[in-house]
Amino acid sequence: MQKLPDLHDADARTSAPLVLTHLEARFGAAPAQSVLAVALDRFEGRVALVSSFGAEAAVLLHMLSVIDRTVPVLLLDTQLLFPETLAYQQELSARFGLSDVRRIKPDESTDPDRTLHQRDSAACCHLRKTVPLERALGGFDAVLTGRKRFQTKERAGMRSFETGPDGRVRINPLANWNAEQIAAYAKAHDLPQHPLVARGFASIGCAPCTSPVREGEDPRAGRWRGEEREECGIHIRADGTIERISGARSSGERRAG
Ligand code: SF4
Repeated sequence: MQKLPDLHDADARTSAPLVLTHLEARFGAAPAQSVLAVALDRFEGRVALVSSFGAEAAVLLHMLSVIDRTVPVLLLDTQLLFPETLAYQQELSARFGLSDVRRIKPDESTDPDRTLHQRDSAACCHLRKTVPLERALGGFDAVLTGRKRFQTKERAGMRSFETGPDGRVRINPLANWNAEQIAAYAKAHDLPQHPLVARGFASIGCAPCTSPVREGEDPRAGRWRGEEREECGIHIRADGTIERISGARSSGERRAG
């Protein structure tokens, strides 16, 4: 069997795609807790979990707390989150004993009145999410996410171990999970629910861009409702250039159409 390069060796970073292929083959279909444990071991000290502290966030945060409560957890505090989300972050952090939760905030100097989302939501996401996240992840080689395949068609083919658009390793321990498994885990561990779930919010982001979903709708249908996008829309590539996700367009373009 081919020996895996040691990712603790900085020189082996160029071999990351090979390592990810092996990790996916060996652990891609493993239980979520195993994927998480492998990721924390392989990328020890160089991995952070990015959490929205949204509707389903408690599951992965709880799993993390069982293995290692000291792993950095990053919340993109866009300054436009629901106050309920910030309160929920406090509640979960205290309950799970997470010792390194970081609220990442944007430089608002180019959008001081916080209205950019009305004119160009992709640019707003770039300012308030992509740039601060890239800065916050500067010291990390890998990022853990709570993304799941069932959520959107864009996520349907994603792997548990993959390379993100910024070239960084991205690990999605819950990739294979469905809504029923999420609910069952939350119930089994008596996890507190985000307060907005009871009000019909199935996926929770910034207040101006999130609305409740109706029965039978896709869980993320309430995100950027009316726009042809289900993700943040802009990513910074590894070479520093900017990529707009296919289908993402600005609010202005939407109104013009
Ligand atoms: Fe701005 Fe909306 Fe993106 Fe939040 S989700 S950063 S408010 S466009």
